[in-house]
Amino acid sequence: MTLLLDNPALLTDRAFIGGEWVSAKSGATVPVDNPATGAVIGTVPDCGEEDTRAAISAAERAYPAWRARTANDRAALLERWHALVLDKIADLGRIMTAEQGKPLAEAEGEIRYAATFIKWFAEEARRVDGAIIPAPEANRRILVMKEPVGVSAAITPWNFPAAMITRKCAPALAAGCPVVIKPSELTPYSALALAKLAEMAGFPAGVFSIVTGDAKAIGGVMTSSPIVRKLSFTGSTRVGVQLMQQSAGTLKRLSLELGGNAPLIVFDDADLDLAVASAMASKFRNAGQTCVCANRILVQDGIHDAFAERLAKAVSALKVAPGDQEGATIGPLINSAAVDKVKEHVDDALHHGAKIYAQAPEGAKGERFATPMVLTGATRDMRLADEETFGPVAPLFRFTHEEEGIEIANGTSYGLASYFYTENLHRAFRVAERLEAGMVALNTSGISMEMAPFGGVKMSGFGREGAHMGIEEYLETKTFHVGGL
Ligand code: ADP
Repeated sequence: MTLLLDNPALLTDRAFIGGEWVSAKSGATVPVDNPATGAVIGTVPDCGEEDTRAAISAAERAYPAWRARTANDRAALLERWHALVLDKIADLGRIMTAEQGKPLAEAEGEIRYAATFIKWFAEEARRVDGAIIPAPEANRRILVMKEPVGVSAAITPWNFPAAMITRKCAPALAAGCPVVIKPSELTPYSALALAKLAEMAGFPAGVFSIVTGDAKAIGGVMTSSPIVRKLSFTGSTRVGVQLMQQSAGTLKRLSLELGGNAPLIVFDDADLDLAVASAMASKFRNAGQTCVCANRILVQDGIHDAFAERLAKAVSALKVAPGDQEGATIGPLINSAAVDKVKEHVDDALHHGAKIYAQAPEGAKGERFATPMVLTGATRDMRLADEETFGPVAPLFRFTHEEEGIEIANGTSYGLASYFYTENLHRAFRVAERLEAGMVALNTSGISMEMAPFGGVKMSGFGREGAHMGIEEYLETKTFHVGGL
């Protein structure tokens, strides 16, 4: 492995199962490459069913002692992990940029963001409390207690290789649940580096395992195992539906954070500067590869041309370059299939009458780089109106009346994030209450933060991560009736 790190031990080619750094039982490995160059960084174990069962068994063995620890104890370990993650931020950022492609500044930003979940849930661990309910008889008491749900599993995507892990594991661990994680096969090194730091922090063997490799085989065991009581998944709606079907036989608790098709609506009375800056951040973060990226930009007639012009200017300042290059703002896409999808969406839009209004200057060449662009004349019959483009293309849909804007915004089976821009208070509440989404943002595009619930409705899934609700996902309610007093 060629990556230059201050702490080379953070880059590991072993899975972490039951507190041991191991190869797959089969001995098989899978390569991991650098999307900017296509060069292989190294390999990781191609774990399968047997390895996954071993991780689940280790979690089961670790569970009684882990849940019996005091909340303060678990919080202290999380605090230590948090400090180690922040201390190693430079290396964690380098590892992420190498395997995921995002610019280094964004990678470090993600590590800071990932760390906030560890800190937050260290604090929440101490606040898991219950209730005492007035009973119907004088000699009875009714107590409501919260208990960990049990051994948990997490399947995470490649677009946020660190934050999606901490957002799931930190609340699980805080609640007293051991967790077995399957990171994306495209970005396992970030997950393994976090595991190294968790091991250094002193988590007991088996409470935190990382199983890399064969998604189908690992997911199959995770979903069918009666020992696993909870599965948290972030990824595509297609796979989410499949995992829910597979989990039906064991009636697992599920959190599914699935695809989005976020509208960003700019009304005539919007603050133009704010709307442009916000649309840029929402659309082009991670080269457009986030489930809350604005997929459709809906602009009202009166402000349309001014907005398009300003957005074009901002797009022309983007720098397409490998993520480790100074000043890069748009790195490569994750793989060539992602680039093909973006190209297909653009071709289809042009075929249906859209125009390329502006493009970023030509930057890095290579098969995984896509050119950021603004399209005008987008309409609902285009593929990009229905599907997540997951790339740096900003399509502008023009609309006339508020009602029409809301209708286009809601005209999707997804319901994750919605953004809108207006200076009118009446309109603000009218629109916020009508938008069908788990998260609605007025005059901002920043919605991912540890203290705010994150999650969707409709085909974007269910369950919430972050906030106090994030730990509830890993807690069970037990009612304790005490009679004959
Ligand atoms: P994306 O489109 O973002 O790559 P996916 O849903 O394909 O989303 O992937 C998200 C996560 O789900 C990854 O860790 C991937 O390996 C995993 N995954 C994909 N297919 C399956 C499957 N059949 N069973 C379990 N996990 C899967």
